[in-house]
Amino acid sequence: MKLVNNGLVKFDYQFPLYNFFFPSQSMSVFRPGETQLSDVLNGANAKATTRALYFHIPFCEAICSFCPFTRGLYKNEEAINRYTKALIKEIEYKSRLVDLKAVPVRAMFFGGGTPSLLSPQNINDVGEALHRFFDMSTVEEFSFEFNITSVTRERSVALADIGVTHARFG
Ligand code: SF4
Repeated sequence: MKLVNNGLVKFDYQFPLYNFFFPSQSMSVFRPGETQLSDVLNGANAKATTRALYFHIPFCEAICSFCPFTRGLYKNEEAINRYTKALIKEIEYKSRLVDLKAVPVRAMFFGGGTPSLLSPQNINDVGEALHRFFDMSTVEEFSFEFNITSVTRERSVALADIGVTHARFG
């Protein structure tokens, strides 16, 4: 951040965010072991009758200074490819701790950030994992957030292929 001559502040780097996800997103505060995590997830399964799933894609083409969400500036395809692989690994990991098909999923939402920065290959890979690990037959709404600048025919086809029912523009 720089103070410029007229007293205005120039936002030229990303500030640390202390938003409504803090401190739960800080692993230094809550570091559950596998047994503890398994207990939490299975306890939640025992009480839930339906479920809504949210997937966060924390990359944006431009950073808005007012935005409280977890996000970072999209720099290259490599970073988003690595994030997609990590997301799929996390789904696989959680599936070893809890039966992800035990509770019917009614709604899914991909938000951000800007999920429409995922490539068609990223979308296919995530979609394949969702269909493998969750029972998608009960999903009534599958929403995906778009920025208008990243709409392409290839992305739209990939999203239709994995079962997205609602494109959300913001
Ligand atoms: S999530 Fe939306 S509002 Fe927030 S920085 Fe990204 S584009 Fe801007």
